[in-house]
Amino acid sequence: MSDKFDVIVIGAGPAGYVAAIRAAQLGLKTACVDAFTGKDGKQALGGTCLNVGCIPSKALLDSSKQFHNLTHNFAVHGISADNPKIDVATFIGRKDKIVKQFTGGIGQLFKANKVTPYYGTGKLLKGNNVEITAADGSKQTISATNVILASGSVPIELPFAKFDGKMIVDNAGALDFTEVPKRLGVIGAGVIGLELGSVWKRLGSDVTILEALPDFLSVADADVAKIAAKEFAKQGLAIKLGAKLTKAEVKKNEVALTYEDKDGVHELVVDKLLVAVGRRAYTTGLLADDTGVKLDERGRIVVDAHNHTGVDGVWAIGDAVRGPMLAHKGSEEGVAVAEWIAGKAGHINLDTVPWVIYTEPEIAWAGKTEKELKEAGIPYKVGTFPFAAIGRAVAMNEAIGQVKIIAHAETDRLLGAHMVGPGVSELIAEAVVTMEFKGSAEDLARIVHAHPTLSEAVHEAALSVDKRAIHKGN
Ligand code: FAD
Ligand code: NAD
Repeated sequence: MSDKFDVIVIGAGPAGYVAAIRAAQLGLKTACVDAFTGKDGKQALGGTCLNVGCIPSKALLDSSKQFHNLTHNFAVHGISADNPKIDVATFIGRKDKIVKQFTGGIGQLFKANKVTPYYGTGKLLKGNNVEITAADGSKQTISATNVILASGSVPIELPFAKFDGKMIVDNAGALDFTEVPKRLGVIGAGVIGLELGSVWKRLGSDVTILEALPDFLSVADADVAKIAAKEFAKQGLAIKLGAKLTKAEVKKNEVALTYEDKDGVHELVVDKLLVAVGRRAYTTGLLADDTGVKLDERGRIVVDAHNHTGVDGVWAIGDAVRGPMLAHKGSEEGVAVAEWIAGKAGHINLDTVPWVIYTEPEIAWAGKTEKELKEAGIPYKVGTFPFAAIGRAVAMNEAIGQVKIIAHAETDRLLGAHMVGPGVSELIAEAVVTMEFKGSAEDLARIVHAHPTLSEAVHEAALSVDKRAIHKGN
């Protein structure tokens, strides 16, 4: 096979592998270069998301939720079990099997779509050539008319709490503990801290999360954050706000932490420490000096609204560029870029990318928050509806949280949806579709929603925007 392609994608995460498949579907001769090595020492496609991110974290969240329900929530249904136990090896083994199924699945999809995979580190050279360095150091160069950079992101390391893979870990380490840590410290009450903190808390760890900012989950709607904080506190997640770690000292079998908050200096000893203070774009070794591709002040590859780098035939997508670091955002950029390369009308709207945090209760939002609208001087109206008044949620014994719908005060156009409660990871899609079609709260309010379902909370919140919810006072 010739080493000249129409498209070479560097990175086979959800941005890169989707771009490669879409390009191949469109008849472009496509290669995808990726360097990720799985737990078995072999090439593992799928990037962070499939190997050490979205998929394994959701597998562990689901298993730990089953265990938590068994130990805490089943009694109310009249269900009991003697002495329930968790077998950590089986718990982790199930996650590994799911990861393998999905990473292997990408290989199958590449075969079916005739995408040529390369295993090694890709470096963009001038003139759209890509040098691939294999694990044994051997090199080969392939070239293409278009190169899509999809090198993803890596965890940010704190200089005074460096990852050692054993006692101080990143997301990958916290997905692979061999036993339930008695005391787990987490730095950062962001998405990873809350999700992986929840996993180990449910299995019995004493979890303390230190968050530097004074407000909890400040990226989310304020009401959502308030409801979630209350529920997490009930579950026993100790979240300390305005807490800045200053020292992490690894002792024999524990880590001694020193942190400061408004009350002074504190000490905390934990058995494992997860540092989850955000991720940064990963471009180490990706670009030869003379490619002309630029990085911004945060190390992200600079692109325009069409994900073009400004260098002829060079594009970039996913976590390596601006915008939210989410799998589905990267995938849609991948589809759009492949379509632009093929001369078609690609589409990506960063304003409607949904966020989901897979805790209990789940948290989901899309569009603008009230704070953002206030700051932008956009007039808006709000409707809310509590899951406590939703028959299905009560029947499930999960009647926690609410749906908030925000619409433009004059045009009624849907501007945002903010949800905390059961099944909101799925419910958010309805709001995204409405926003994408430039629909209004009235549109949502006039659509028939099945009864009894959780989606009735969306319907009632939309009705509540004009103070006409049926099942609550307005
Ligand atoms: P990545 O997935 O990081 O993939 C990049 C790939 O490129 C990697 O395989 C890397 O090895 C490879 N690579 C990099 N440089 C080179 C090079 N020079 N040569 C060859 N290969 C290279 N997002 C969600 O939307 N939902 C979730 O539920 C979710 N959960 C998450 C849970 C955790 C614990 C973490 C850490 C992240 C989670 N994310 C989630 C975020 C999601 O994983 C990322 O947004 C997504 O993986 C980004 O995709 P990407 O393709 O841009 O990059
Ligand atoms: P994050 O940005 O979500 O949260 C990091 C938190 O750490 C923030 O609250 C920040 O204020 C805090 N922080 C920063 N420095 C600190 C310090 N020195 N001490 C204490 N706190 C500090 O980042 P993350 O949780 O590492 O996750 C990275 C990204 O991965 C997410 O932003 C998201 O894009 C993606 N992700 C998504 C999902 C999902 O979609 N469900 C799940 C996991 C990760």
